[in-house]
Amino acid sequence: MGALDSWRFCPLCGEAIEKIEDRAECPACGYVGYANAVPGAEAVCFDARGRVLLGRRAFDPGKGLWHLPGGFLHEDEHPLGALGREIREETALEVEPIDFLGFWLEPYDGRVVLCLAWAANVSGEPVPVTISSSCAGSSRMTFHRPPSLRSRTTPPSCQPL
Ligand SMILES: [Zn+2]
Repeated sequence: MGALDSWRFCPLCGEAIEKIEDRAECPACGYVGYANAVPGAEAVCFDARGRVLLGRRAFDPGKGLWHLPGGFLHEDEHPLGALGREIREETALEVEPIDFLGFWLEPYDGRVVLCLAWAANVSGEPVPVTISSSCAGSSRMTFHRPPSLRSRTTPPSCQPL
């Protein structure tokens, strides 16, 4: 499934659109929509004791599976700004990125997310602060030692495309 699969009409003028490869074009007003990946920022956050900050999905997609703290970028937001904002919203912790781990494409709820991931340090205990659309699917984030993660470690959606 792609970002434009359910599109039938132009979001600007309401005329029927034409789908051409990975874009939708409106013959009436000239609007062009592209099926881009959605950028997201997340981190493997360690505390001073070497524990990793994780949550479990409260809702689908991936209900019950582990996930890293993070979320989607706002339109004009730097990825590191998004990382700090999302982790602050989910845990009230301030994140200190220490290394860029990499990026990958991950299917998520009918879209494809371009995940940008860092290793990071955090201190203190996580406290849920706000429930926003980006973290509403998450249970409370808590620290875990790697041996406690033997069951259901990653969602099937984390397989490379
Ligand atoms: Zn149009």
